[in-house]
Amino acid sequence: MAAHLEFPKRNAAYAATFDKGDLALPPAKKYIVITCMDARVEPASQLGIELGDAHVIRNAGGVAQDAIRSIVISQRLLGTREIAVFHHTGCGMLLFTTEHLREVVKDADPGNAVVAEAVDKIDFLEFGHLQESVKSDVKFLQEHPLVLKDTKVTGWIYDVTTGKVSQVV
Ligand SMILES: [Zn+2]
Repeated sequence: MAAHLEFPKRNAAYAATFDKGDLALPPAKKYIVITCMDARVEPASQLGIELGDAHVIRNAGGVAQDAIRSIVISQRLLGTREIAVFHHTGCGMLLFTTEHLREVVKDADPGNAVVAEAVDKIDFLEFGHLQESVKSDVKFLQEHPLVLKDTKVTGWIYDVTTGKVSQVV
């Protein structure tokens, strides 16, 4: 069964007890979490983030470079002042290279020049070492001209086998 067919029923159960309809648009606790789209990662419960508290920006890997558009909106228009970068153990971003993924896409559609040109434009921003990727993302944000200078930036690793987080920087 397609996943979306379950949404109305599951949402009805959620909405039946929903009582947070008066939350403000800006995040109450003024922070951003950047993390991976991995299905085992769920920042709200793993970090105790209540509805309305924070902006959670997710992408493949929790890569800072991929989050800049959202960070500028979050800081300049919605008042966030702290950023926490979370990468995690067992991340798929440790398991491939951009060159390999480009070949996978091209091999699935041989001779399609439009597909080849489109995928060649994408840097998938994979990484080879967890601690180093966290450190380099923190540095990237601290040095980025569009990130506010007084922003507190920290870097973390979430362990998918224990449920625990550890701070890297
Ligand atoms: Zn991941």
